[in-house]
Amino acid sequence: MKKEIICIICPRGCHITVTGEGQNIQSIEGAMCKRGKEYATSEFTNPVRILTTTVKINDRKDDLLPVRSKDPISKDKLFECMEIIRKTTVNSPVKCHDVVINDICGTGVDIVATKDIY
Ligand code: SF4
Repeated sequence: MKKEIICIICPRGCHITVTGEGQNIQSIEGAMCKRGKEYATSEFTNPVRILTTTVKINDRKDDLLPVRSKDPISKDKLFECMEIIRKTTVNSPVKCHDVVINDICGTGVDIVATKDIY
């Protein structure tokens, strides 16, 4: 299997081609540096993303609390995490960086507020 990846580590935006199967990588072509090779390896074997979204605030129909994952989460888990976040509500007040959901879906990653609400 071949996967084309655009490296986002620096503005150069190298086009990297990774060849392999599952967790086994046979070749990485097009990366100009070690950081790009590491990024391409991660994108091929276990792509992760910071999850950014909102949760509902109890008693405030027209307001939402912006939240994000404190660390990147495996792309495979994002849908499952969104299902939990969608069902979550918070009571005000909430401080920026407060943990809204602890260890979401057993990922070891917390979902935290990114704004104060009063
Ligand atoms: S491979 Fe290296 S030089 Fe190329 S975009 Fe990624 S970080 Fe930048």
